[in-house]
Amino acid sequence: MTRRDELAANLAAVEERIASACADAGRQRDEITLIVVTKTYPHSDAELLRDLGVTDIGENRHPEAESKVTDGLRLHFVGGLQTNKAGAVTRYADVVQSVDRPKLARSLSRGAEAAGREVECLVQVDFQEGADAGRAGVAPDGILALADEIASLGALTLRGLMTVAPLGADPRPVFDRLMELSADLRRQHPGATVVSAGMSDDFEHAVAAGATHLRVGRSVLGERPPAR
Ligand SMILES: *Cc1c(COP(=O)(O)O)cnc(C)c1O
Repeated sequence: MTRRDELAANLAAVEERIASACADAGRQRDEITLIVVTKTYPHSDAELLRDLGVTDIGENRHPEAESKVTDGLRLHFVGGLQTNKAGAVTRYADVVQSVDRPKLARSLSRGAEAAGREVECLVQVDFQEGADAGRAGVAPDGILALADEIASLGALTLRGLMTVAPLGADPRPVFDRLMELSADLRRQHPGATVVSAGMSDDFEHAVAAGATHLRVGRSVLGERPPAR
């Protein structure tokens, strides 16, 4: 089997899971954007995915992300981002999903402005409590202030919310809460309609909750080597 055949088969299986989750939830497939997370995989896989009809890829590290830039694919940066790398990322990312502090937002805006680009941003929300809290993402009560900051910056467009469900916990209450927070946010920022949630192991629950964007890596590309 060629790599193209393997990716095509995996993609078809993921599409079948999405279709079935949509049917269960009474949703239409075209309400949902599949982002294939290509981190650790070669650029040639991104090109094959594009040829198979994928429109969006996700990456979590600079400069690896830059090496996956591909004609015809929108690139979503989904990883933790140091302020000093923000400018570099704005030169190629279409969307930064992991905005979690005002200082990062301001650096992204300066970078985008310098590059003459408009970068879409999601506020990353963190639902961990206790010792794990705040590793990546803002707590729910910090969403609005950060969203206001992003919306006020000329080169950034506020598009919505993103979360990574806490490891090993039932993701359903988290995704439901994210949808409520999205409704709250849209009262102030009607254009912030994106809800990015759901990965290989839990995306059916994200579809059920109402997510608009799924970020799926391993189910399409295969298991990544450990320690990433
Ligand atoms: C790697 C990654 C994904 C995809 O995870 P899989 O389990 O491979 O589907 C989604 N979101 C983020 C932020 C990631 O880093």
